[in-house]
Amino acid sequence: MFLQEPKDLTRHYSAASLLREGFNKQKGWAPAWRDAAPKAEYDAVIIGGGGHGLATAYYLAKEFGMTRIAVLEKGWIGGGNTGRNTTVIRSNYFFPESAAFYDFSLKLYEGLTRDLNYNIMFSQRGMWNIAHDRHGVEMLHRAVNAMLLNGVDAELHDGAEVKRRIPILSDAPRYPVMAGLLQKRGGTARHDAIAWGYARAADMRGVDIVQNCEVTGFDIVDGAVTGVRTTRGDIKTGKVALAVAGNTSVLAELAGFRLPIISYALQACVSEPVKPVLDTVLLSISHGVYISQSDKGELVIGSAIDLYPSYAQRGNLPVMEHTAAGVVDLFPRFSRMRFLRQWAGIVDVMHDSTPVVGLSPVKGLYLNCGWGTGGFKAIPGAGFCYAHTIAKNEPHPLTAPFSLKRFETGALIDEAAGAGIAH
Ligand SMILES: Cc1cc2nc3c(=O)[nH]c(=O)nc-3n(C[C@H](O)[C@H](O)[C@H](O)COP(=O)(O)OP(=O)(O)OC[C@H]3O[C@@H](n4cnc5c(N)ncnc54)[C@H](O)[C@@H]3O)c2cc1C
Repeated sequence: MFLQEPKDLTRHYSAASLLREGFNKQKGWAPAWRDAAPKAEYDAVIIGGGGHGLATAYYLAKEFGMTRIAVLEKGWIGGGNTGRNTTVIRSNYFFPESAAFYDFSLKLYEGLTRDLNYNIMFSQRGMWNIAHDRHGVEMLHRAVNAMLLNGVDAELHDGAEVKRRIPILSDAPRYPVMAGLLQKRGGTARHDAIAWGYARAADMRGVDIVQNCEVTGFDIVDGAVTGVRTTRGDIKTGKVALAVAGNTSVLAELAGFRLPIISYALQACVSEPVKPVLDTVLLSISHGVYISQSDKGELVIGSAIDLYPSYAQRGNLPVMEHTAAGVVDLFPRFSRMRFLRQWAGIVDVMHDSTPVVGLSPVKGLYLNCGWGTGGFKAIPGAGFCYAHTIAKNEPHPLTAPFSLKRFETGALIDEAAGAGIAH
């Protein structure tokens, strides 16, 4: 059933429904989404129940009226990178193509709680990139100029102002803080809530979300996809959309083509919870670390990718040591805090550090991949543009530059070199 504006009172979240359920001993809540079984045929099948797959399903239903859709997830929704990331949202990119797309995504984030009727705990607490040497300061100047020219908010501050605004920063780190680039609209959101909010909103529009269903092969006739094979049976469909992050090369190989992607483990960790000490997100490329504080009080700490190909979703000691050293240099008073958890996700890095959202060499098979270390912030924007691509069989103007063809034409968008963002 297609529900344009779902207002099912057992499922619509509001102050009134909270109050009502409070008096009702919380017995009236419906499950947030159905546990659907796979059907024999769909108009479109999305592989991967992370943020990207679920957002795509939501926008396909909401914007394009396609509701005979399934999202097939081999594990549980949000169990991939969407539930493993450090939740930083920003649009501080260098090239106009990236800036236009990521700022569009950030704008969607700004209205997402209301749009999904689900609290995604979006907190625009600002995002700092700090520099510790003259070269780094030059890079920040260049980045601020590019951002302002691209219509994205950006402020440049000297080291004293950075220290004034983040008093807990060390007075004398090994590398002095010489400047900071602040994007005030940057911040964080709750990662699980993105998966759950999109799942719930897509389900309310009739999308089947099928968990524990692994895609193991494709049916391809005369160069066009006609269905997928899964651990829960074969499914017929003329449109198949990949949204499987680090597993993209594996799926592409099953469909008979190769992609310029390398999969790496990216790690993160959280400390024990403490009272509020850090009200912003801070990244130091020189130290190879970034840090924020969650609403629970844990310090959420990430670092760069471990630069060898891997599918192992687990952390390791060398990266932890390097990360801890960077954090303690910047914030000496965190030196006696304990780590609570450490983990990894498998990120898919394209050779030019820019994603692919578009067509594949197989007709009816679409690609959303290559987000590397930065695809959480892209979820609403990419979901929207990918839905457009699938429904209309042509790229959305915002993601048209992110096509696979750029590796033939040479129109690469090298954000690693441009923004210094280590994907
Ligand atoms: C430690 C870490 C920190 C990060 N920090 C940030 C950050 O701060 N900000 C940011 O913007 N980005 C960040 N990222 C990147 C971001 O998490 C990802 O780019 C984004 O979550 C990708 O979402 P997705 O939906 O494409 O992939 P995923 O969430 O990984 O979902 C893909 C799903 O596909 C499923 N799947 C795979 N193969 C199959 C199959 N054959 N059949 C069925 N299902 C299959 C998987 O089980 C998985 O659930 C980080 C990533 C990591 C690992």
